[in-house]
Amino acid sequence: MNPNRRLCLVLGDQLSFDLASLQTLDSERDTVLLVEVMEEASHVPHHPQKIALIFSAMRHFAQSLRDQGIRVEYVTLDDPHNSGSVPGELRRWQQRLQVEQVHVTECGDWRLEQSIKDCGLSVCWHADSRFLCSRAEFAAWAAGKKQLRMEFFYREMRRKSRLLLNGDGTPVGGAWNFDAENRKSLPKGVKAPYPIRFSNDAITREVLDLVKARFSQHYGALDDFNYPVTHADAQALWDYFLDYGLAGFGDYQDAMASDEPFLFHARISAALNIGLLDLRRLCSDVESAYWAGRIALNAAEGFIRQLIGWREYVRGVYWLKMPDYALGNAFGNSRVLPEFYWTGATQMNCMRQAIGQSLQHAYAHHIQRLMVTGNFALLAGIAPSQICEWYLAIYMDAFDWVELPNTLGMVMHADGGYLGSKPYCASGQYINRMSDYCRSCAYKVSESTADNACPFNALYWHFLMRHGEQLRGNQRMAMMYKNLDRMPSAKQEALWQRGQNLLARLDNGESI
Ligand code: SF4
Repeated sequence: MNPNRRLCLVLGDQLSFDLASLQTLDSERDTVLLVEVMEEASHVPHHPQKIALIFSAMRHFAQSLRDQGIRVEYVTLDDPHNSGSVPGELRRWQQRLQVEQVHVTECGDWRLEQSIKDCGLSVCWHADSRFLCSRAEFAAWAAGKKQLRMEFFYREMRRKSRLLLNGDGTPVGGAWNFDAENRKSLPKGVKAPYPIRFSNDAITREVLDLVKARFSQHYGALDDFNYPVTHADAQALWDYFLDYGLAGFGDYQDAMASDEPFLFHARISAALNIGLLDLRRLCSDVESAYWAGRIALNAAEGFIRQLIGWREYVRGVYWLKMPDYALGNAFGNSRVLPEFYWTGATQMNCMRQAIGQSLQHAYAHHIQRLMVTGNFALLAGIAPSQICEWYLAIYMDAFDWVELPNTLGMVMHADGGYLGSKPYCASGQYINRMSDYCRSCAYKVSESTADNACPFNALYWHFLMRHGEQLRGNQRMAMMYKNLDRMPSAKQEALWQRGQNLLARLDNGESI
């Protein structure tokens, strides 16, 4: 063994040049290891475009490191010596290179981090400094609190980062949160910018062929791959958003429109989550755009809140509460995820649109995820583990630390309200207000109990009725229960029956 040589593992979501474990790298002696392994690509049926993104970005990153004179070992998926797992490859390369020190930056997945801890090697762990709030700092903030609230955590992060603050530490504009201004539906005639296009170079084309050959059984299209796989392309995507998307992002961030999968959204979450973009730089660019008068405060604050508020908050909850967090099922749901989540074959136009674009692009924006596919799973009582697996598999930017709290906590309220103060349940009226989906739907959003009534309507009231014992005491649900209680009992009975019928159809494996 050579005590002076180090092996630095870089995972597929750690493709940042300033990754903590790379900071003390000695290019004369040390080796960086990147591995494409079947276990990570298939522990859930990841969307083929997501696998292609990660493999292609890893190969480009390895090339960039080599160009900087760094020694890199890269194991491709079809390498005959590939052991198939990250711990297996770490052991193999530690033996092969006879290195004593293995350096790893904190993982984004509890399962993977645990498997490395259990692999029998002595690992030097590095905190992931790409986040604003460390695991320890979040744990200190959460200590002694029965329930956490993102809003208070977010204010701490605003103070820490000094973003959008006046000199005296008060928030610019006199409020911390301008979310109420960010809920406009899309007026007729407002056109979203065309998505920027990236061309696939030889490395990406080779990866696409590999993914096509090895992952054809996974759900999702591969033919329209259009994601940045290098730092330069990710920066181009970001610059494009600053120029053409950001100004409309604030007002219309919750809006949805048929055949408009991206609207004013940046689509940078995948690039950010795998390390091609830097959180602090993004926030500073948005703040600069505000100070330069190029965007309104609600757009700047809304964007920054997503990054230093929600994103950091859900990561903190994940590492604070894992592994038990993944077992949460506060409503005792056990219903199987309907097959149409994997195919889009449903008469509900909102679901068909959201699922269809997810299969086509591995992307849907936060309201489509929370208030359409997520809302339906909540109202229909889908088992949390099944819907969590779907989100982790289908979305380009889904890694366990961000997907699990967002789905299990925020979408499904399965943690009993630890992460969010109330379930995000809504009837079809919300979807109708925020989109044009209902206009071309087989169901009528104005109906609740007829055969052609919008399924979201009866399922919404059915959800409130069946969980009244747990939810009636929640002050934020008071208005919903007041409306339910005002309803004649015959109407309540009809809604219950319609809900029962819809759930029975799901249990029979039928689409609705
Ligand atoms: Fe969705 Fe209901 Fe509207 Fe159809 S009517 S698009 S199911 S909300």
